[in-house]
Amino acid sequence: MNKELIHQFESLPTPFYFYDMDFLTKTLDAAKGEAEKYGFHLHYAVKANFNAPILNLIADKGFGADCVSGREVEVAVENGFKPSEVVFAGVGKSDSEINSALDLNIFCFNCESIMEIEVINELAKAKGKTAQIALRINPNVNANTHKYITTGLSENKFGINMWELDDVLSTLQKSENIELIGLHFHIGSQITDLTSFKNLTSKINKIQEWFYSRQIIVKVINAGGGLGIDYHNPNGQIPDFAEYFRIFNEFLELRSGQEVHFELGRSLVGQCGSLISRVLYIKNGLKKNFAILDAGMTELIRPMLYNAHHEIENLSSTSGERIKYDIVGPICESTDCFAKDLELSETKRGDLFQIKSAGGYGEVMASDYNLKTLHPAQYSK
Ligand SMILES: *Cc1c(COP(=O)(O)O)cnc(C)c1O
Repeated sequence: MNKELIHQFESLPTPFYFYDMDFLTKTLDAAKGEAEKYGFHLHYAVKANFNAPILNLIADKGFGADCVSGREVEVAVENGFKPSEVVFAGVGKSDSEINSALDLNIFCFNCESIMEIEVINELAKAKGKTAQIALRINPNVNANTHKYITTGLSENKFGINMWELDDVLSTLQKSENIELIGLHFHIGSQITDLTSFKNLTSKINKIQEWFYSRQIIVKVINAGGGLGIDYHNPNGQIPDFAEYFRIFNEFLELRSGQEVHFELGRSLVGQCGSLISRVLYIKNGLKKNFAILDAGMTELIRPMLYNAHHEIENLSSTSGERIKYDIVGPICESTDCFAKDLELSETKRGDLFQIKSAGGYGEVMASDYNLKTLHPAQYSK
């Protein structure tokens, strides 16, 4: 981070999130450029970060939106996404959420159960509308990521299982206000082993065969999101969109007229955001030194919830003796720790810390626990 910015931050109350909009622009352009090579369609997974300037920029770049609640659908549309490019997923869509998405005429409901299809049909019928849906199919592919963010195994609650598909087709036949337009898959998040995506393509090919043998060719194949970022090398890292899309282009077997859609969240916004926090106290224990920050699990819960790694830099003290610290928050839980035994230059009260790669699933997961104050986000440019 440049000196000018650090100087500017010194006069601000902490903690707050900082977003490098220039870097976000670069990331979006890279993703868009690689996807366009193959005519792929991109939706941004709004749940990763729904700050208005971020949504506005992503919408301006021509992305569609991927939403997981009715409120997300509304916020996406309020911030410039076209309803005709909004998809709505989630295992538990309430009637009012479905109704508001029907009123907005969104592109597609990604349906996760037979009962959900029946409910959407009823609600669409009451409005005299036809809802476009995709079937979210659980492909039973291991994403090789943290078990809390694995979603494509048959033991997970997500999607429709292969053995249910016959029943799904008979439900669809009875559902006059539903139009099946696609098949949808999302196997998990923070996926860094790209062979998981290759495995997904071969499952999709098999599932397509099943539909094809029943004379069904859908227009949309939606491969979901999940491309991971490198939390250990946050500076200037743009995910390998080229390789990611190349895998789908090479291995997906498409029928004529089929479109491929993706729903990327973390890989677009993860590296543009940081949590900026101040050192409140240094505490020297018998075996450990603690740097106690004014941010904790209430501002960034990923280390505590997923055992996630985030690079941490002391922006104020950069020279001097190297000392190991546990970097902890003020919350009354021993899990409220960002890093253990991190070696830093000697740290003092008032130093500014940057916790990196926090643009995705950071600020959006902040809570009111302890009624701590998270100050307004700062944006570069
Ligand atoms: C969360 C989610 C995504 C985005 O996942 P990332 O790992 O952030 O890319 C895409 N699709 C669905 C259905 C999701 O729930």
